[in-house]
Amino acid sequence: MKSAARILGVVLACAALFAAGAWWRGVSWSDVRHWGTPRNVIDTAGETVRIPVADGPASRRLPAVEPGTSGSYDFLFATGGAGGGPVRYDPCRAVTWVIAPVHMPDGLEPVVHDAIEAVSVATGLEFEFEGYTDERVSFERALVQDRYGDRFAPVVIGFENANQNPELAGSITGLGGSSAVPGAYGDDRFLRAGVVSIDFEDMERIIGQPGGSDLARAVVAHELGHVVGLAHVADPRELMHDSNLRLVDWGPGDLEGLAMAGDGGCEAG
Ligand SMILES: [Zn+2]
Repeated sequence: MKSAARILGVVLACAALFAAGAWWRGVSWSDVRHWGTPRNVIDTAGETVRIPVADGPASRRLPAVEPGTSGSYDFLFATGGAGGGPVRYDPCRAVTWVIAPVHMPDGLEPVVHDAIEAVSVATGLEFEFEGYTDERVSFERALVQDRYGDRFAPVVIGFENANQNPELAGSITGLGGSSAVPGAYGDDRFLRAGVVSIDFEDMERIIGQPGGSDLARAVVAHELGHVVGLAHVADPRELMHDSNLRLVDWGPGDLEGLAMAGDGGCEAG
């Protein structure tokens, strides 16, 4: 059906937003050694903050994943992670996440939890839901905030429309990404403080369709793919295609990429 095709065309159109240069401005070793304390610092939201030290044991929370499939995948930050390879989340700490519930479409929250679980299974990263936040979803967010304490802000999933965020204009249904920043000590970089912004007006239309929950989950999963570091691919058989027309589940390359996304090095505590 033409109308269905149009809606499906909207479903996975997406822009990956991520910030390395904007959020982490070249910090030299001499800059970061303050008074003999060799802690890295970042400039975030106009403030210079010391990078929080990783807590807990540096051992994986969940086993690494063997994908069993291969195909197209790509990374937003191709180099610079712990132990080589792309920049990734630390698999030795739970990826905490919160929902900014303002404008969340009815029926979407279980879909969001399902999408998170799908990403966890495919990556071997543990996700920990911390509830609801009064933070307003923004890619300009501070990476460390008083409301979350002395640690990186959790991944925030929130809702805007194109008036609130022009990046969501037209066929763009969602935005996703994380910031690649150095660990507390040393040169390794890790993904932190991810953001997913869903166009709630588009999403209300999607989830209201027959089979809408599956389509909605695919939208959120795609954005979470960006959060864990995946970039778009040209192959339309993958969910990480920028404007997929039909898929509701991971393709073979998505699964290979997600497994790699979850197989990064751990930050020493
Ligand atoms: Zn995308």
